[in-house]
Amino acid sequence: MKLSGDRNQCQGCKEYFNSSFAFNKHRHGDHGIDRRCMTVDEMQAKGMSKNAAGFWISAAMPDAVTAEISEAV
Ligand SMILES: [Zn+2]
Repeated sequence: MKLSGDRNQCQGCKEYFNSSFAFNKHRHGDHGIDRRCMTVDEMQAKGMSKNAAGFWISAAMPDAVTAEISEAV
């Protein structure tokens, strides 16, 4: 998988992330205490999803927002 821009791969769980924001969102707990990766189920529960390219994004755009944008054109 080619990484460009802000995309990155987690060295812990080997998942790919579309941005450092999405990457940080999947890291759970406190540094040095119980810091870990969230599971796929946990990420989905937080509203995260994979985009068409296979990278995790922090949140899919809600349908309502998408509809608003297309109506505004
Ligand atoms: Zn991870």
